[in-house]
Amino acid sequence: MENEKSKRENKQRRRPRQLPKKNVAVKAEKKEDFQFKKDNLKIIPLGGIHEIGKNITVFEYGNDIVLVDCGVAFPEDEMLGIDLVIPDFTYLVKNKEKIRGLVVTHGHEDHIGSIPYLLKEINIPIYATKLTAGLIEHKLEEHKLKASTKLNVVKQGQTIVLGKMRVEFIRSCHSIPDSVALAIHTPVGTVVHTGDFKIDYTPIGEEPNNLGRLAELGNKGVLALLSDSTNAERKGFTMSESSVGEVFEKLFFNCTKRIIVATFASNVHRIQQIVDLAVKNKRKIAVCGRSMINVIETAMELGYIDVPKNVFIDIDMIKNYPDEQLVIITTGSQGEPMSALTRMANGEHKKVTLTANDLVIISANPIPRK
Ligand SMILES: [Zn+2]
Repeated sequence: MENEKSKRENKQRRRPRQLPKKNVAVKAEKKEDFQFKKDNLKIIPLGGIHEIGKNITVFEYGNDIVLVDCGVAFPEDEMLGIDLVIPDFTYLVKNKEKIRGLVVTHGHEDHIGSIPYLLKEINIPIYATKLTAGLIEHKLEEHKLKASTKLNVVKQGQTIVLGKMRVEFIRSCHSIPDSVALAIHTPVGTVVHTGDFKIDYTPIGEEPNNLGRLAELGNKGVLALLSDSTNAERKGFTMSESSVGEVFEKLFFNCTKRIIVATFASNVHRIQQIVDLAVKNKRKIAVCGRSMINVIETAMELGYIDVPKNVFIDIDMIKNYPDEQLVIITTGSQGEPMSALTRMANGEHKKVTLTANDLVIISANPIPRK
């Protein structure tokens, strides 16, 4: 009896304690309700998926849109008479009131090339790191859009607020300096967008990728990781940019020929290594190709290429120097039919004709074609 009684008492005593539990349950339901009312995050690629180039992604949460990158694609062989392929901006024009800004991961054409064409339809602020902004500015000048565009320079590590989203710029490495990965913090979670990247522990002229920050975000929990990079499906490692210099060094050493290097216009690190070797081997450098000249000029102005005076010479001056005192940097590392190198090889270039006394170095990874 005693036991029964005490059990009953216990039950009674327990009852009031159960009440707050109920309350907790009610609260939890309310919390759940509240969560359901949150908007969905939409991630809409308007280009760049299943294709090379034309990278552009929409992040839409409620009344806010953040746009990431706005690139071009280069025409396929069958697209006769077409110079550039730009994304379809219909969705952005329709929703232009929602767009808080365009965030750019790096300065490659397939990420910035369509910006002027977008700005001609809608005027939105742009956020990019220094070199990327410098390359964009060049385009804005070309298209007479500079005065009407708000181009904001951000630093690696900085976070900006765009409506209900916060965008964090995380230091990354790629074949162009000042590249970033993005952490897009939204009310429903964080999305990490890696941009194009390579993991380089010994990059030239900049710090390695901020892997620590990515790990930290990973530990906190990431809603989605968007990650793609050319050749991502291939196994193995990409050589560090520094190891490319060692190969160059051997080619330049004791070479008596004129050296012609074809590389990507935007590979500022590689151009720096060519500059260093040219200086070391007492050679002058001439540059061929409009895109190459644009990028080198911008990178030098902003301090991304360090070069003593009088190393660069005008292409018209090459006839005044013997072969062993010259390096020519040119576009055309992909064998593009209209590039300077292709025209030189076909004897169609006005300023440079290839001879048997030329050492031609094609310094680029092949880009896979569909
Ligand atoms: Zn890229």
